[in-house]
Amino acid sequence: MTQVHEGGCHCGGLRYRLRGALTDVAHCHCTICRRVSGAPVVTWVTLALGDFQWLNEEAQCYVAPASCRRYFCGRCGAHVALVTEHSPQSIDVTVATLDRPEDVRPNRHIWVGTRLPWLHLDEDLPGELGERL
Ligand SMILES: [Zn+2]
Ligand SMILES: [Zn+2]
Repeated sequence: MTQVHEGGCHCGGLRYRLRGALTDVAHCHCTICRRVSGAPVVTWVTLALGDFQWLNEEAQCYVAPASCRRYFCGRCGAHVALVTEHSPQSIDVTVATLDRPEDVRPNRHIWVGTRLPWLHLDEDLPGELGERL
């Protein structure tokens, strides 16, 4: 049976559905994710673009850096998804917007060079200076 996961933004303006096992999960410490989300770290699950589906109204798009399209809710501002030119057949979704984020297990840290020194989170996981795609 194919796993199905759903999620959405805080106000409910954006809802999405994911298919398949959510196995590629990374804590991103880059300064762009930090500023766009207003959080010290953003945890992303990566899956094939074809396994992602919006269920309702259009997401707004913010481009940063130039290679990345970041999708967010135009009403409540929640950062929901990201597609990068470096990996156009995959999509990253913010784990925190899943209906059941507790079902996902992070397996690495990325962009650890800008990790905040006071953030203590999953210290046993491997870290990457950039991101392996
Ligand atoms: Zn919203
Ligand atoms: Zn990032």
